[in-house]
Amino acid sequence: MPETIRAVRGMNDILPDESGLWDFFDDTIRSWLSAYGYRSIRTPIVEQTDLFVRSIGEVTDIVEKEMYSFVDQLNGERLTLRPEGTASCVRAVIEHNLLYAGPQRLYYSGPMFRHERPQKGRYRQFHQVGVEALGFTGPDIDAELIVMCARLWRLLGIEDVRLEISTLGSSESRAVYRTRLINYLEQFYDALDEDARRRLKTNPLRILDSKNPALREILQNAPHLFDDLDEESHAHFAALQQLLHDQGIEFEINHRLVRGLDYYNRTVFEWVTDKLGAQGTICAGGRYDGLIAQIGGKPAPACGFAMGIERILSLISQIDEVKENIAPDVYVVHQGSVASRFAWKVAEFLRDNGLKVILHSGGGKFKSQMKKADASGARFAAVIGDDEATAEQVSIKSLRTTAEQVRINFTEMAVFLKTFNEDGR
Ligand code: ATP
Ligand code: MG
Repeated sequence: MPETIRAVRGMNDILPDESGLWDFFDDTIRSWLSAYGYRSIRTPIVEQTDLFVRSIGEVTDIVEKEMYSFVDQLNGERLTLRPEGTASCVRAVIEHNLLYAGPQRLYYSGPMFRHERPQKGRYRQFHQVGVEALGFTGPDIDAELIVMCARLWRLLGIEDVRLEISTLGSSESRAVYRTRLINYLEQFYDALDEDARRRLKTNPLRILDSKNPALREILQNAPHLFDDLDEESHAHFAALQQLLHDQGIEFEINHRLVRGLDYYNRTVFEWVTDKLGAQGTICAGGRYDGLIAQIGGKPAPACGFAMGIERILSLISQIDEVKENIAPDVYVVHQGSVASRFAWKVAEFLRDNGLKVILHSGGGKFKSQMKKADASGARFAAVIGDDEATAEQVSIKSLRTTAEQVRINFTEMAVFLKTFNEDGR
């Protein structure tokens, strides 16, 4: 017996029982985004490795240890499976000159790849919806993105999610802060873990994001970037807060919010829940005014966020509603050779009329076919024997009510099924 082949660790199959929920999410996302005028962009899953190194930053978790990078054996190109979507989106916008036509409201949705330790809410292939507003200086657009998220949580019935915001200021103000932070942390050098010691030289701000409890204590009293903020960033942040107040959005300011990617400046935010343990961030984003120029485009401001679909779906509870949504309307059972040919005609007729139909396949007695009809979740069984077929009629049995079975001409079925109500006809 050959050895069975299994899926790659940390990469999940989405089976039919779950995929209804994914479809429901996709539908919700699409109408939610179009309500705000965002249009979709679909970029390749594989990009040049340099794109991610240059945009996300050399000294980040993603670039240092999480990327699926490889050399294309056929032409020697250095490629990477995308670990996130912003870099690809910006690359495409530059490559196709989209900003020439004015600012762009865009979104994408799809799989991302990071070589992390798999656990609940953290996978090696996971899925994100990302929203990017390019060419806008904000802070109105920063607020729009946050207000949009709040609406999505309402649409999905997600509660108990809180908003944390902060500002990273300009790169100049971050440079001043960097020195101050290094000076502070050096006093505690002996207590720093290996990661933090390394980051102290390369990317000290990232230490603020540490999940090590001992370090977090030291960080309690660390200086705040806020005190080094330039005047414009101050004003931007104040205006954002005002807009959020106006829209009734509650938030906390979290001075340790730095985000794991280097391209952010000014506004950063995260939506966090306590229901998912350590994997509590369901959506994260911010402003990245320098990125477009950094990867070769004409300088333009931008702002965006990405949400982890797996984490969001694990918070959604209306699964029953979703199942009902995808159940067939009619399950067609048939026995006898004339009946089987006629059953095809009936099924196609019903589909022409917009109904969801399963045509029984695999033969068997009426009784066992009816069991399958019931298990399918269909509202009705259309029962066809040679008798019905010869008369071009169908017997209709309601599977969810006690209504009597009725026999009607097949051309009347669509209207009958659509007007059927609980107490029979
Ligand atoms: P974390 O701190 O949880 O590692 P991150 O800062 O690396 O998150 P981002 O790069 O900002 O995450 O990605 C945005 C969102 O995508 C996260 O808030 C999370 O919901 C989701 N996400 C990120 N990595 C994974 C993963 N490996 N598996 C599942 N979801 C993920
Ligand atoms: Mg991460």
